[in-house]
Order: sequence, then structure tokens, then C-alpha cells
Amino acid sequence: MAATPNSAEARDIAYHLHPVTNARRHQEIGPLIIDRGEGIYVYDSNGKQYIEALAGLWSVGVGFNEKRLVEAATKQMSKLPYYHTFTHKSHGPVIDLAEKLIGMAPVPMSKVFFTNSGSEAIDTALKLIWYRSNALGLPQKKKIIVRNRAYHGITIAAGNLTSLPANHTSFEMIVPDVIRLTAPHHYREAKPGESEEDFATRLAEELDQKIIEAGPDTIAAMFAEPVQGAGGVIVPPATYWEKVQAVLAKYDILLVADEVICGFGRTGTMFGTTTFGIKPDIMVLSKQLSSSYLPASALMINDRVFEPIADESNRVGVLGHGYTASGHPVVTAVALENLKIIEERNLVSNAASMGERMRAALRKLESHPLVGEVRGVGLIAAVELVKDKAAKTGLGKAGELGALVNKHAQENGLISRAMGDSMAFCPPLIITEAEVDEMVSRFATALDLAL
Ligand code: PLP
Repeated sequence: MAATPNSAEARDIAYHLHPVTNARRHQEIGPLIIDRGEGIYVYDSNGKQYIEALAGLWSVGVGFNEKRLVEAATKQMSKLPYYHTFTHKSHGPVIDLAEKLIGMAPVPMSKVFFTNSGSEAIDTALKLIWYRSNALGLPQKKKIIVRNRAYHGITIAAGNLTSLPANHTSFEMIVPDVIRLTAPHHYREAKPGESEEDFATRLAEELDQKIIEAGPDTIAAMFAEPVQGAGGVIVPPATYWEKVQAVLAKYDILLVADEVICGFGRTGTMFGTTTFGIKPDIMVLSKQLSSSYLPASALMINDRVFEPIADESNRVGVLGHGYTASGHPVVTAVALENLKIIEERNLVSNAASMGERMRAALRKLESHPLVGEVRGVGLIAAVELVKDKAAKTGLGKAGELGALVNKHAQENGLISRAMGDSMAFCPPLIITEAEVDEMVSRFATALDLAL
């Protein structure tokens, strides 16, 4: 449909190159312009209401009109709108947030480093790990392990740790020596008749084997999301993390938990790390850290990481890494208020109970001809769409069925995201019982329309 000349749609087409969008198709169909938000809902420029079943990009935990965050931003903006944290400078909000995060950490953590996006935080983790290896006199210890279907961001370094073809194809990627493992997705990756337990054992053996092949002394760290998000909401088998960590410990390999989606309640406890019994050396945080009201991210590092880095910065003279907006006062003030809200309103236990309701309602759709698998934990889930249940295949091209259901969902007042042929559900943590039921009911209608 051609956009009316000079309309917002036409101007968006004329001037705006969108991320993660087909730029040619955008010229044909134009944007969906979102105008305002309220609770779990957003409204487009024609006033049509949508349930935001993905909380924006897995991120708006407290919903779309939290006044306390507006007030926190306004107050800090009036007092000190900007200051930096280079060369020993600091300010109240960044100190308060650092202390708060260390207090919340589910395993002992020592220091917080502030960044602005998940990708920057992942890049920072990678650089600090390399810096540490050099500090320890182990310059060969630089290789990184990730899993297929991982999403760790899109900068040149983080983008290479991501293992999704669309984020690599036609780009030049430069991080050397990335070792990629099988994604822990039983439905797609298990051998016929293989139990979840045996599948987890096989994946841990694969890890062990790849470490031996690459040379144990050359591997610095494994980066992993507790639940893989953008790769399709992959919830690993129950014993997966225990088995993987046993292998990493054998070879003294650091573990980085990418909590960018899982952090702050998403999996039904405060961190994915807690839900799965993970003991990381670094935790990467973003999204629900500030509910994405402002761009915020951070990483927490333990003493095993901090101590050699501190020594090296002393030897070199400075830790030569940081961003103009690292620990920005308005961002950190908003993030702190957001975390207070999550705690005061018990949003983590709400995520656990609403998640149970959401997954039970989605599981009722398992008998639908287009549903192959429903998977999830806490308040994050995915529905794997198939046309042929036995062959586990979709329509002609991978992703076509997902796109079709997604289109019907949007027409029917439900914004979600099709990751290939999986539909994701990751609504704001504030969702109520009635809203969960309405969300799943709108999805069921979309499924029927796609038949
Ligand atoms: N890590 C994970 C697990 C993510 O889901 C994302 C973004 O979706 C990132 C890292 C990158 O975050 P950003 O888009 O803020 O760079």
C-alpha cells in the first residue's frame, strides 16, 4: 500500500534505515508507528491497541507508562544531567546502582562496569577477559566458546559471538577462534529416542571434545544465555548447566552468563543464573535493568576477573576502556528506581505465577495442527510452528509460517516476534491473569487464521 505523501509513514520510508528490517520490503509496506503505551499495551498512530507480548524487545519489565521512572529521570536531569566516570570521577546514582547490583548478585561478584547496550557489555566482557589473560601471562588463552543460535548482540565482536546466520551473512566478522557448540534444543537437536538427560550428557561431551581439539590452554571463556532468547527461546534440559559447568571447571575456563534477557525476573527468579544453578564469573545485564526506558547495560565481574585486571591496569597505567556514557547519572538513577519497583511490587514472583499460567494456556494449544512444541520457563516462552508435525517442518521456506502467524497476530492486536518459525512470548512482568488469558486468546485466533 502506497503511503500518503508527506505522512509520517512516507517520511519514515524516505529517511529512516531500520535495524533488523528488510529495507526493500519496508519501502513497500512502511512502518507500524507506535504512538503511546500503557501497562502491557501499546497504541499505534491510528489508536489501535496491541498487547506487547514481547515487552518491546524483551525489555519493558514494568510496563509502558511507569510514572516513577519519569520522575526519577526528571529529578536527576535537573540536578546533574551528565557526568562521566573516567579518571576516578563518580556520582551518587552510579555508586548507588553499583552497590545495589552487587547486593543482588546471586553469586559473589566484586565490581560493576557500566556500558550502554547489551552488545557493548558483551564487547567489554570479551576485552576484559583478553586483558585478564594477558595480565596472567597467558596470552594464548583467548578463544571463546558459544552455542549455535546464541544472540549476544551485533557489534563486530559481540556479533561474532552471536550464532545466527542473519547477523553474519554479508557482514565481515573479525573475532578469531570462536568455537560453536550445538544449541541445547531437545526438540530439534536430539537424536531419535534420546532422553533429555542423555542429550545433555552428549552436549557436555561435545564441549569436552571441542576443548581438547582446540587446546584447553587456549580457551579463555564460554559465553552463554541461561535461556537462549532471540535464537528461539531455547530452554536447556534440566541437568545441562550442571554438566557443562563441570567440564568448564575441569579446564579452568571462565563462564559469562549473558543475562541480558533473563535478568531481573524473566525466568521466574531474579536471574537466569539462579533458575539454572549457574555460577558465572561475569554476568552481563541490560534490558530489564532499566526496563529500557533509557539505554542501560552493565557487567558484574568476580574477584577472579577483577584482581588480575586491577594489577594490569596498574602496570599499564590505566584500564584503557570505557564509554562517554558509562554510568550516566540519569540512566543509573532510572535503573535504580526500576529495580526498586521490581522488588517492591514483587514482580519476580508475579512473573513466576503469570508465567505458569501463560505456559499452561499455550500448552493447551499443543493439539492445534500448527503447533509443534511449546517451551518456556518463568515468563518467557515460544511456540514452535509446524505444518507437518511428524517431519517438524513449516511451509516452503523456513520462517514463512512464523511470518504468516505473526502477521495475523498483529492484525489481531498482538505484537510478538517470529524467530524463524517460533513465536516468542515475553510480556511485561506486570501482566495480570486476565491479560495473560487475552494474550493467548489473541494468539489462538491468529493460529486459526493461518490454517
Ligand atoms: N545479549 C542478549 C542475550 C540479547 O538478547 C541482546 C539483545 O537482544 C544482546 C545481548 C544485545 O543487546 P543490545 O541490542 O542492547 O546491544
